[in-house]
Amino acid sequence: MTFTIIFLIAFIASFGLRYWLAQRQIRFVAKHRVSVPAEFASQITLADHQKAADYTVAKLQLGILESGLGAIVLIGFTLLGGLQILNTFLLESLGPGIVQQIALLISIVLISGVIDLPFSWYKQFSLEERFGFNRMTKSLFFSDMVKGAGLGAVIGIPLLWIVLSLMARAGDFWWLWAWGVLSVFSLLMQWIFPSVIAPIFNKFQALEEGALKTQIEALLTRCDFASQGLFVMDGSKRSAHGNAFFAGMGKAKRIVFFDTLIEKLNPGEVEAVLAHELGHYKCNHIRKRLLVSFAMSFAMFAILGWVSAQPWFYSGLGVMPNPSGYNGGLALALFMLVAPVFSFFLTPLSSLSSRKHEYEADGFAAEKSSANDLISALVKLYQDNASTLTPDPIYTAFYSSHPPAPLRIANLKRLT
Ligand SMILES: [Zn+2]
Repeated sequence: MTFTIIFLIAFIASFGLRYWLAQRQIRFVAKHRVSVPAEFASQITLADHQKAADYTVAKLQLGILESGLGAIVLIGFTLLGGLQILNTFLLESLGPGIVQQIALLISIVLISGVIDLPFSWYKQFSLEERFGFNRMTKSLFFSDMVKGAGLGAVIGIPLLWIVLSLMARAGDFWWLWAWGVLSVFSLLMQWIFPSVIAPIFNKFQALEEGALKTQIEALLTRCDFASQGLFVMDGSKRSAHGNAFFAGMGKAKRIVFFDTLIEKLNPGEVEAVLAHELGHYKCNHIRKRLLVSFAMSFAMFAILGWVSAQPWFYSGLGVMPNPSGYNGGLALALFMLVAPVFSFFLTPLSSLSSRKHEYEADGFAAEKSSANDLISALVKLYQDNASTLTPDPIYTAFYSSHPPAPLRIANLKRLT
């Protein structure tokens, strides 16, 4: 009972906070819709500014709806007994054992996926379409979905099987082993992602010879950065939003530009954007993020190891532990559903550290490339992506991985 009350308090606080933050952001953006902020007045038209405000508000409203439904589904699975019904049904049809536990977890993923489907569909073909960002066809939407599910099954089921076997056989410290397996696995994924996973969804072509390539190679030499080649990805087949990133680890690092980025920016601006990304690498942000995520997953597994052996964890969330005493899948399912309610409160910490990293990477770009080029690239990207220039400060402090546009540009101006 006590745990039910703790869960309900966290549940109400976390969904209430989500709603309050979204409403704040909507009001703030709407209030500043009437005029372009003075420092952007010469580059961004009122029409573009208002489009960004409308796009931001439309996304937030959809997010509120989605989070409301998520709250209902969560309570449905837990306190209202959905998970209990599902577990009993699968126990009766499959009998106890690892197959039943895997079936339970797959059912939850499938049910959540089906509930989410109308939202993804609406987002892509109504919301993004309305603002001119959608480039995806309906057949691509379905082929992405089928590929994603297939990949999830090929990778997820064996991994689940390993974790559930460890839970059943590795004793009290099963969670330490499971954490080790998952950590090694995630490193492996980072390593094989660019050459094995990414090509399933996109085409990658070597960057053409020419002025841009020469300029980028000079930047790489200047930054002493070894990569396994420069690639252009056909991001335009899904969305008009542009980006640049690298993928892979160690010697397998690839630099990837979205074709939409190269269309929109001039070579100097592309170079500045890449210099920013190199900054993340050179300032060790990527390594730090990886270490933090290992530490976080260690803590999560330790908590899971503890709560999965406590009867109140099950009964407090509306589930009866299995009579066989083998509850691995049930514990994993409950934990997957409930942990985000609690971990949500850590969001501002990770946002804060991410914004700090963005400033550092901007500093690196200003030093190795050009702060002015980065400013003009950012203004073009804000405009093209219809990102709001006037976010609510509290919403930003909580969620934003990047500093708000005016602060970020003011900082870059100091570095020119
Ligand atoms: Zn960045």
